[in-house]
Amino acid sequence: MHRFRSRIQQKILLLILSLSLPPLMFVGWLGLTGLARAHDTAVEEGTNALRNQAEETLAQRARERAQFYNVTLTAIQQQVEGVASYATYQASKPVPDRTADRVWVAPAPNPALIESYSPQVAYAQQMIPLLQSVITHNTLFNVGYIALDQGGIMAFSDAGVVDKLLSIQPFDPRQRPWYIQAREAGHTIWTDAYVDANTGALATTCATPVYGSQGQLIGVVGFDLLLSTVQEDLLTIDIGQGGYAFMLNTVGDVIVRPNLSAANTNWDEPFQSENLHASASAELRSLVDKMLDHQSGIEQIEYEGQLSYIAYAPIHASGWSVGMVVPADAIIQPALNTGQRIGESQDRLRRQLTLLLVVVALAIGVASLFMSLSFTRPIRALQYGVRAVASGKLDERLPSTGRDEISELVTAFNTMAAALESKVAELEMHAQQLATLNNVSNELKGILDLDTLLQRIPEAVCVRFGFDRTVLYLVEGTHLRVASASFGIGNEHQATHFAQVVNADPLRLDGGTVEADVVRSGKAIIVDDPWNHPRVDQRKQVIAGGHSYVQVPIFGREEQVIGVLSADYHLSQRRIQPQDASQLLMFASMVGLTIQNVQLYHNLEHQVAQRTEELRAALEKAQLADRRKSDFLTGISHELRTPLNAIIGFSTVLIDELDGPLAPMQREDAQSINRNGRFLLHLINELLDLARIEAGHLDLDLGRVDLAPLVSEVLDTMQGLLRSGQVSLNQNLPADLPAVCADADRIRQILFNLLSNAVKFTERGTITVSANLRDEIGPDGNAQSMVVMHIRDTGIGIPANRQHEIFEEFVQVHDKRLRRRGTGLGLAIVRRLVEAHQGHIWVESSPNEGSTFSFSLPIAR
Ligand code: ADP
Repeated sequence: MHRFRSRIQQKILLLILSLSLPPLMFVGWLGLTGLARAHDTAVEEGTNALRNQAEETLAQRARERAQFYNVTLTAIQQQVEGVASYATYQASKPVPDRTADRVWVAPAPNPALIESYSPQVAYAQQMIPLLQSVITHNTLFNVGYIALDQGGIMAFSDAGVVDKLLSIQPFDPRQRPWYIQAREAGHTIWTDAYVDANTGALATTCATPVYGSQGQLIGVVGFDLLLSTVQEDLLTIDIGQGGYAFMLNTVGDVIVRPNLSAANTNWDEPFQSENLHASASAELRSLVDKMLDHQSGIEQIEYEGQLSYIAYAPIHASGWSVGMVVPADAIIQPALNTGQRIGESQDRLRRQLTLLLVVVALAIGVASLFMSLSFTRPIRALQYGVRAVASGKLDERLPSTGRDEISELVTAFNTMAAALESKVAELEMHAQQLATLNNVSNELKGILDLDTLLQRIPEAVCVRFGFDRTVLYLVEGTHLRVASASFGIGNEHQATHFAQVVNADPLRLDGGTVEADVVRSGKAIIVDDPWNHPRVDQRKQVIAGGHSYVQVPIFGREEQVIGVLSADYHLSQRRIQPQDASQLLMFASMVGLTIQNVQLYHNLEHQVAQRTEELRAALEKAQLADRRKSDFLTGISHELRTPLNAIIGFSTVLIDELDGPLAPMQREDAQSINRNGRFLLHLINELLDLARIEAGHLDLDLGRVDLAPLVSEVLDTMQGLLRSGQVSLNQNLPADLPAVCADADRIRQILFNLLSNAVKFTERGTITVSANLRDEIGPDGNAQSMVVMHIRDTGIGIPANRQHEIFEEFVQVHDKRLRRRGTGLGLAIVRRLVEAHQGHIWVESSPNEGSTFSFSLPIAR
């Protein structure tokens, strides 16, 4: 029960789950993978967008800063060039008076030197107010000055510088890089970074040469720009965590960068800054190339040990380039942060989706369980019903469950159970009937007397099947006669009377009665209303008294109707039902054979008695004839032998010429008489022997007989009978041949007969007597040890098709020409003698090769 439930339920469960879960899982999988893809896309695109934006911003910043410095430096340049123009202009004017403003005269000012360069000093001094004015209006400038080619005179915007120079003298401005570069360039230049002699800080100078009206060099105007100022400015730009700005000059030296200081360099030493163009990184070198080429852009390269973005833009005014370095992480980090946030929210979504999937799967599982239960419950009910029916509760019915296929099954089950119940009841009834039938038929089979059987059949029908009256009709020739009838106890007389009445005028088989119909059709007939039935015999109508009755055919061998059984419910007056008829029909079919068997037995018994009597008489007659024949033979033989002996004796006397000499013709005649006489005597002796044996007068004198000496003796005798020297006689008996139980004279006779036949039918060759042992089944059924003697010759042999006859009386196989004179009785006598000894005799022979006669004799115990 459990196993069934689990199997069906499991199957339904599995079915529903296997139908619903895969799509669910597929949808779930789609959702989850979609989420993952969305996450990746969002992160990637978000990151890209943010990075692009950051990159763009950084590049923009770099461009803006460069632009700013470009404007600033251009402005500075213009101011410096303005001052230079003024100086040129002043050079064409008359020399002014000297003022008290302090100026520098190389290598160091002293009154004598100042005096000697008096016009130049005055020229320089008149520039000081302009220099001061420019400085005041431009905070980027540290100091402004003009240096003259003649005398290395130098005037400053700030006179304090002279004091400073005094502390580091000697100092000649014409040796300074800014001077040399401007002079050599012939136009405004920006110097490389150098250490300012005045402040000791890193500085660059915007210097421009001043020419006189004839184009001669007067000197150089220079304004110092402290790079630290630019540096401070650049530092204020917020370009993110770890980011900074730098500036490259025209050769790739870093001139501005956080923490760039000139601390270790003296003012008169050239400042050696890091040159990025000399970097080991090819990536960096190529980037620096672009910067020096006044390009702008942004690139991601490995810089100072980490992946960084470098944005760059040119400052056209000075030929420098602004660079901004930001670690790549700092750019990507916000994007990564956004990605992480997206990821987190998607994780949440994934968890929710997974939970949803699990919940739905569980819901489907529970729903499937309920569904499978709803399927299996009615099936279980059915199963219960089937089990109940199987265990014999045939009245089990199941309640209807609804309108589905299973309820149809329930209905079918109920119908089946009902059918089964009625069938079983029917079967039981049949079984009962069969048992009754079997009992009755067994009972009847035991009856061998025909009259008793015929009497018992209607009685048995009444007693066993509940009929009140039964009549048994049997077919006799062309009529149907009442064999017996049973009308119930106490009504025997009526039954006998009825039989007498009907048999007085037996029903004809070709007549128009119901009984004749039954015989002809071989079918049962129920007569419901005898009075009004045209084919019911009047006598029967009277007996039936208006009540229904049934008549069934009795079948014998080969489906032949041998009689009719008629039965009714006279007392209970019940109507005959079809099942009554079928029951009776079955009985009739069984009883038919029984009747026929007993009839046969009856006839057979009669015949056997008759035949036995006949045989006995015949036997007596035969025995008498036999005895007479034997007696006659014995008598006649005796009577014949006396004269024959006389004939042989006298003819011998004649031949021996005891009665005087004989003429040759006489002699021949006498010999013929003698020979025929002897043959006749032999014939008579043999006939006599046979007759004696047949008459049962063969008395054997049994004893232990040693065969070897016997054989030797017979062979010796036979030796004398051999007609020519072409046949030899041999004896080949085993030394240990056991003695046999036999009559020695008769064995001698057997051997003599067989050997004389061998001699008779052998022209040349050998005749051998041999022996061996074998077991034979004796008359008592047990194995018996026998000595088998073989007489083998190399004579003319016997055709195979005649070998079986030669042991019969008077049989001679070979034609007259071949066969020697013989009686045809020898082998017949031999066979009888051997068989009288409980032995067998047989022959094996092939024509022209020879014959072997063998016979067996029992070994003496
Ligand atoms: P018979 O007196 O004619 O010899 P038997 O009964 O002894 O009568 O033999 C019957 C016949 O069996 C013989 O006539 C002969 O044809 C055949 N027969 C018997 N012995 C031999 C033998 N050794 N070889 C061939 N034929 C034989």
